[in-house]
Amino acid sequence: MSFGCRQLKRIIPQAEWGEAHHLLILHGRYTCTARSPDCDTCPLTDFCTYYERLQRLPDPINGLDASKGTYYCSTSDRYFDEPAYKTDRYGVRQIVCPVSGSMQVFHTKTGKTTKQVPDFRVN
Ligand code: SF4
Repeated sequence: MSFGCRQLKRIIPQAEWGEAHHLLILHGRYTCTARSPDCDTCPLTDFCTYYERLQRLPDPINGLDASKGTYYCSTSDRYFDEPAYKTDRYGVRQIVCPVSGSMQVFHTKTGKTTKQVPDFRVN
């Protein structure tokens, strides 16, 4: 669930709008920063669509061999260097396997997924 300004005004008493305004600014400055939101310490995870999407990303894969390629596709069990790209249903440009077209692609150095989630916080 995400909240817009009108929705927040409906649930926050008018006498507290000023304080809520400042608290939201501080939240954006110190916790939910544009470049690196600190979701691990954030008290709003139950309400955050961005965080919900982050939880759906696949877990990292251990033991990938970076000498075989920059990326690894778990669908085709294949290493490769030159990725293909596809825009997903959320409008985010994703790295895909050039052979299978799968988005189950991982960085071989870190084992982390290449998938990205849409960032509603800055749109
Ligand atoms: S993205 Fe969501 S969970 Fe992460 S810090 Fe911002 S509000 Fe909190």
